[in-house]
Amino acid sequence: MKGICILGSTGSIGQSTLDVIERHPDRYKVIALTANRSVERLHEQCIRHHPEKVVVVDEMSAETLRKSLSSSGLKDITVLQGISALAEVAALDNVDQVMAAIVGAAGLMPTLSAVRAGKRILLANKEALVMSGRLFMREVEKFGAELLPIDSEHNALFQCMPAGYRVGERKAEVRSLLLTASGGPFRELPLESFREITPEQACAHPKWVMGRKISVDSATMMNKGLELIEASWLFNLPVEQIKVVIHPQSIIHSLVDYVDGTMLAQMGNPDMRIPIAHAMAWPDRIDSGVKPLDLFAIKKLEFETLDNERFPCLELAIKAMKKGGNCSVTLNAANEVAVEAFLNGGIHFTEIALVIEKVMSEAPFCEIENIEQVLDSDVRARALAEETIKALT
Ligand code: NAD
Ligand code: MG
Repeated sequence: MKGICILGSTGSIGQSTLDVIERHPDRYKVIALTANRSVERLHEQCIRHHPEKVVVVDEMSAETLRKSLSSSGLKDITVLQGISALAEVAALDNVDQVMAAIVGAAGLMPTLSAVRAGKRILLANKEALVMSGRLFMREVEKFGAELLPIDSEHNALFQCMPAGYRVGERKAEVRSLLLTASGGPFRELPLESFREITPEQACAHPKWVMGRKISVDSATMMNKGLELIEASWLFNLPVEQIKVVIHPQSIIHSLVDYVDGTMLAQMGNPDMRIPIAHAMAWPDRIDSGVKPLDLFAIKKLEFETLDNERFPCLELAIKAMKKGGNCSVTLNAANEVAVEAFLNGGIHFTEIALVIEKVMSEAPFCEIENIEQVLDSDVRARALAEETIKALT
């Protein structure tokens, strides 16, 4: 029986994780659930999964949740509040696996707490790794944590690695990694129309149902940029050895290209329960609830090159990774602020990349030796992004 803590249980990944857990009551027990402030959904999850502890970020949500749990006869569930409580539940003794599914930089410290407690980390929160790269991987090694990728591309790559592979190792027999991308909702939209893209259009992904932030990232292709950086750390390869392939069907989730000419791909229906179930049960395999692939219904798999003019964010990410230091922290922070502004109607779709580029050119460069420098660079870049947006509007 494995004890599970889900950081971000009310989100898209969090809910898919609970769906997998529910299919295997003999294998998994929910120990802790956390959310920002979706109290109602968290309450429903408490009724269904009966965790020992739940965490919400602000005090008012905590009060509301305590009252509602008490009136449902669930007084034995402890409600904790605040950012430090996220880190606390991720490190509980009876937690074996931590699903890191908080969106954005807010997930960094709680995920690191799980790493430092030596847990199995099911890593969905790519922003944490993008921000802290080398430090994160060093902590995984130092504290003997077990890191398994949830991001579908990285989970696919992991599955295509040689037997016994552990995340962070460099494999000389791997020539390159190919990350597949659906191309998002605007792969074929005329470039002139990009400026007027609305948040609703950007969030309507053709293949995946996801949270709003990652949906916008997929539409700008920043998601692929963040994934390139993520892959570079997880598989210990320079970005020059990682390529992006547009694959509109989203059936192949990524490929490993070996020196002998073999290419291994992982296929499956586009449903996050596949990588979630894989990482939770690894090295076993369990039912994820996802339908098997019907190859005769799919018929064709297509591959295209990426149009850089349409998607300048990908180049920005590559530039940040090549420059090193705090550049990926700056990139990520500027992107988070710009996406939020876009979702709130504050800037145009095409201005997301402009804001990031400007912040990257103005933010002071520094090498990263500790987590304080990561957090400090994050705060600075956010302030610069806010200023840049104000000047635009
Ligand atoms: P989401 O917006 O649906 O859910 C985010 C979760 O984080 C919610 O539970 C929310 O309450 C919590 N949260 C948000 N802000 C918080 C804060 N400041 N403090 C504490 N908790 C906070 O997002 P999602 O689509 O589930 O994505 C989660 C992560 O997984 C992201 O990093 C995303 O890039 C990654 N990911 C998602 C998918 C997907 O299919 N959804 C695929 C690959 C990777
Ligand atoms: Mg992905």
